[in-house]
Amino acid sequence: MKQLIQKLKETQTLTKKEWRTLIEHRTPELSEYLFSEARKVQKHYYGNRVYIRGLIEFTNFCKNDCFYCGIRKSNGHICRYRLTKEDILECCQIGYPLGFRTFVLQGGEDGFFTDEKIIDIVSSIKSNYPDCAITLSIGEKSYESYKAFFDVGADRFLLRHETYSAEHYGKLHPHTLYAKNRQQCLWDLKDIGYQVGTGFMVGSPYQTVENLVEDMLFLKALNPQMVGIGPFIPHHDTPFHNFPQGSLELTLFMLALIRLMLPKVLLPSTTALGTIAPNGRERGIMAGANVVMPNLSPNNVRKNYMLYDNKICTNSEAAEGIEQLKTQLQTIGYEISVSRGDSLN
Ligand code: SAH
Repeated sequence: MKQLIQKLKETQTLTKKEWRTLIEHRTPELSEYLFSEARKVQKHYYGNRVYIRGLIEFTNFCKNDCFYCGIRKSNGHICRYRLTKEDILECCQIGYPLGFRTFVLQGGEDGFFTDEKIIDIVSSIKSNYPDCAITLSIGEKSYESYKAFFDVGADRFLLRHETYSAEHYGKLHPHTLYAKNRQQCLWDLKDIGYQVGTGFMVGSPYQTVENLVEDMLFLKALNPQMVGIGPFIPHHDTPFHNFPQGSLELTLFMLALIRLMLPKVLLPSTTALGTIAPNGRERGIMAGANVVMPNLSPNNVRKNYMLYDNKICTNSEAAEGIEQLKTQLQTIGYEISVSRGDSLN
């Protein structure tokens, strides 16, 4: 098994069968070995620097009905909100002096935010903060819309593929959504010139090892600049409320495998990872991750952007808790980098 890890490190690829063997037969000892190899690669390319991104969750309205997601259209139990352009700019104004040089605008697929409105928001941020990168995470759009956002200054786009398998995708989403469409969006984004982030949930309902293997092969083929993965966590007001959450252990294992497969990729230690274990985010860094995305949304709306139960949004997970985050990272030998943190991949 250690030979497989060495092979992955040296060739940055494995066969389907080898991926399956590695994931199925992992042990705690093997994981520790994998994490230390992943840290070597992480340190080789990025040193002990961890990049920060300020996450602005600007709308929780969504036209989609994904079975796992707490802000799905059919959830009538949440308080819906939208931030104005002024609210969003205020988030940036708070984030900039804290050291944020990337602002991530994430939201549900909200028709209120027409292309015109997104263009206006992106242009305003760009003219106020020319030295900052803007990341959009607003779901599936047409090639033309993506292009228009890019042309006014959007630098990066996050769109997790969620799961590569069309069959598995169909078990997580209503029939109006297709795995192929989502993947096409990612190819479009790359073609336009965005730095692209994709990813998947670990331990989502009905997920098999085969699905994870296909996710790895898809990541290899797409070769994105960033990969966001985190454990599935049930939300009480969704059809998946009774499914178990994904495990910390498997999420860390997958993070480390991704670090070896795409050595220069940006790899966030996600909020979901921090939610399922008190030191989850630090453990993600120790498994090869090198990005954290503290919450810059206004305090009064954070509780309404609940993608899953108990999502953390205070203390070191909040932008204003950056000092605490620094201390936590120092404890494990890492430091925050105040820079755009563009991908080397
Ligand atoms: N509407 C945007 C943003 C989605 S929210 C888009 O379509 O990309 C960002 C990510 O949160 C999703 O891609 C999904 O992978 C994750 N997520 C949603 N619900 C979750 C849950 N219950 N547990 C864990 N992660 C979840």
